[in-house]
Amino acid sequence: MRTETGQVIRLGDYRPSDYLIDKTDLVFRLDPTRTRVTAKLQMRRRAGVAPGTPLTLDGDGLTFVGARIDGADAGDNAVSATADALVVNAPPASETFTLEIETVVDPTANTQLMGLYRTGGNYCTQCEAEGFRRITYFLDRPDVLSVYTVRIEADRKDVPLLLSNGNPVEQGDLDDGRHYAVWRDPHPKPSYLFALFAGNLGVVEDEFTTASGRLVTLKIYVEHGKEPRAAYAMDALKRSMRWDEERFGLEYDLDIFQIVAVSDFNMGAMENKGLNIFNDKYVLADPRTATDQDYASIEAIIAHEYFHNWTGNRITCRDWFQLCLKEGLTVYRDQEFSADMRSRPVKRIGDVRLLRAHQFPEDSGPLAHPVRPRTYREINNFYTATVYEKGAEIVRMLRTLLGAKGFAAGMDLYFQRHDGEAATIEQFLACFAEAAQTDLTQFALWYDQPGTPNLAITTRYDRTARTFAVTVNQSLKPPVAGTPNAPMVIPIAFALAGKNGSTLDHDAVSGARTMQHEGEDGVLVITEPKHEIVFTGIAEEPVLSVLRGFSAPVTRVPQAPTRDRFFLARHDSDPFSRWEALNSLAMEDLIKATRAVSAGDPAAASDALVDIFSAVAGDGTFDNAYRALCLTLPAETDIAREIGRDIDPDAINKARRGVTEHLAKACERVFARIYHELQPRNAYDPGAEGAGRRALRNVALTMLCHAARSTDLAEQALAEADNMTDRAHALMVLTHLAPESEAAAQALEAFRTAFRAEPIVLDKWFTIQATVPRAETVETVQALTKAPGFSWDNPNRLRSLIGAFATGNPVAFNRADGKGYELLCAAIGRIDAKNPQVAARLMTAMRAWRNLEPGRRQRAKTAIESLRRGDRVSRDLADIIDRTLA
Ligand SMILES: [Zn+2]
Repeated sequence: MRTETGQVIRLGDYRPSDYLIDKTDLVFRLDPTRTRVTAKLQMRRRAGVAPGTPLTLDGDGLTFVGARIDGADAGDNAVSATADALVVNAPPASETFTLEIETVVDPTANTQLMGLYRTGGNYCTQCEAEGFRRITYFLDRPDVLSVYTVRIEADRKDVPLLLSNGNPVEQGDLDDGRHYAVWRDPHPKPSYLFALFAGNLGVVEDEFTTASGRLVTLKIYVEHGKEPRAAYAMDALKRSMRWDEERFGLEYDLDIFQIVAVSDFNMGAMENKGLNIFNDKYVLADPRTATDQDYASIEAIIAHEYFHNWTGNRITCRDWFQLCLKEGLTVYRDQEFSADMRSRPVKRIGDVRLLRAHQFPEDSGPLAHPVRPRTYREINNFYTATVYEKGAEIVRMLRTLLGAKGFAAGMDLYFQRHDGEAATIEQFLACFAEAAQTDLTQFALWYDQPGTPNLAITTRYDRTARTFAVTVNQSLKPPVAGTPNAPMVIPIAFALAGKNGSTLDHDAVSGARTMQHEGEDGVLVITEPKHEIVFTGIAEEPVLSVLRGFSAPVTRVPQAPTRDRFFLARHDSDPFSRWEALNSLAMEDLIKATRAVSAGDPAAASDALVDIFSAVAGDGTFDNAYRALCLTLPAETDIAREIGRDIDPDAINKARRGVTEHLAKACERVFARIYHELQPRNAYDPGAEGAGRRALRNVALTMLCHAARSTDLAEQALAEADNMTDRAHALMVLTHLAPESEAAAQALEAFRTAFRAEPIVLDKWFTIQATVPRAETVETVQALTKAPGFSWDNPNRLRSLIGAFATGNPVAFNRADGKGYELLCAAIGRIDAKNPQVAARLMTAMRAWRNLEPGRRQRAKTAIESLRRGDRVSRDLADIIDRTLA
């Protein structure tokens, strides 16, 4: 057994590097198996560092060829190189010197997809977080900023396209059918933002004029023949550029902005300066191949990577512990962009559902960590929902506390003060504290304390005194023994709802600081373990609406009284809170139904839930997308999370199905009307309006099939579908409700035939089958790993089959005999040998194993332990397994 355990890196150990790299000149002589890389580094000794202090550069699996110092060959005594480091033992005593290094790398053998690798016959790089050291020896850390000039040489016929960061400088022919191109990026950047792409792709070209009049060329490169499918991504890019100018006053700063779509990519996309590299799944879309969800993801991710140009690239992170500085802030920015492009409440509900589905479980389980971690063994494992999504929630709370003006002033100061620097969370917060003249010391705990705070809230109305008393208790259970849990600053956006939901006025409030920013909800600022808040001058008994818009990433246990929630579900003037009330009532019924199923009784919905469900279904004043969300019951994984321990996934599945059937039958007529009224009349349009119509109509289709216990309507919908949203949904309903039917088998085969040459579309085919909620799916998934179109080397294929099975199919994955866990662990062992990052990510699907009922718990543990005992476990995977089992 060999495990690379790796060192523990600690935030407290941070110190600046002894040397800086002012200029980096790179030459790549591309070759599929022997690419030669020459790096000429203009080194500078930092002030205060003793002359001659040894210099150590990072490497990872490199083949060293030679080094020169100030133009002269460095002898063996001067430089010592291993695959993982290069040490200059006695650097020149002068303040500056040049260090030239030559290495050889093999892009074809690089299956980790970190550093320089091959994808579809092209050359591509991925350097965040520590991939650049797999290309050449370097001070591969985000606080070393350098100005890059890159020369690329390659065969002209096979590799016509030679791209890197910045602006193009020159290009030309060489001997032997080779050619070259030179790129220069004037903005100093850390090595993780370096990018190179070389190969043969088609291009879509457009242009954008910035607010100050700079003309920017925009290019998106995709596989030949797929150019029309990049039109939506281009449109989203232009809208992102305009929005960032209007909302944040931020303009683009180079002459050209390029996006390259590749099919082998570990993540969603990467914000390399001026040359974003994307997983093609987040670029390519047309109505025939992409769903509304795909369009929305493309819009959000194009925006996200573009917004990084300022939040991440112009101002970068001092060290990887500050990852949330760029990610939390940029996720907040892309969420706001999507909210402005589409329906704000629908976007918010979707984001909160994701937060609860991914971040809350992470934050309460063995993989919990602060938004800014203090230690790590493998930084690749910290690209988490906590760093990204909870990080975004912290920025949103800042916005809520400071109001639009205070927040904008803080952002402006941040850009003005730290442009061109590698910054920290402390520096970020200091800008807001200074601009808004407020103390954020306690607020900063959000970055340091893991776990989800809970609020317990009770109310009492005194009719005679006309007072309304609200008691708020906050508590934080440390998810990992020994982690801190001091009281936090929790902004509670609130309203006192009178009859019909109109907001009641009050004279005064005592017991907590409140804020009222113009045109926004009032906010109670919770800072103590307990607040006794009293509102005076309240004319009638109000219902308290709190955490409006989900103003803080917290839980609320116990929930508000059932009577209040029924009132809010009908009358709350905040659409998020109205959805929240309805969703929590549905959850209560689902948990009751699960208990009933476990006791051998049938599952049913309460009469009150049926009433409110049919009221929402029939209420045409709501926007369609919003109605679709309200009429979708919490997922099985949501119910499991709410139950929390001794989880029986079979009982949850039966209960949810029973409640769905009950509601579907009770509201059958309303759903039939919706289905009929929302028939597509115009050509497909990926915008919010059309997407909302399709979302609601597809909810109606699901419910009608449940009500009739028949998939006839799904078959008909499949036959009529003229776009991928409707087609994939109908196929899913048919396959999940009647997996053994001839109709399902034929429909799956027709889909496979139609899209067999389209890997990212075929991913939907894999996912639909991997998520059929029945025990036999374990064998189906096993068989699908041998199906044409599946590949153990492509991250998208792995996520669509193995990932979807482990995270989206609680019934089969948690099969009582443990075969689901064995399948996942065997797959991870196989993947780990080639791509540790993807293996480690898949492993997080097992993080909730302790919450299962005893039989499954034991089988899950055995499977994880046997994987850990395997021949060779990567550092990435070992880190996740050890924390999962700890
Ligand atoms: Zn990002």
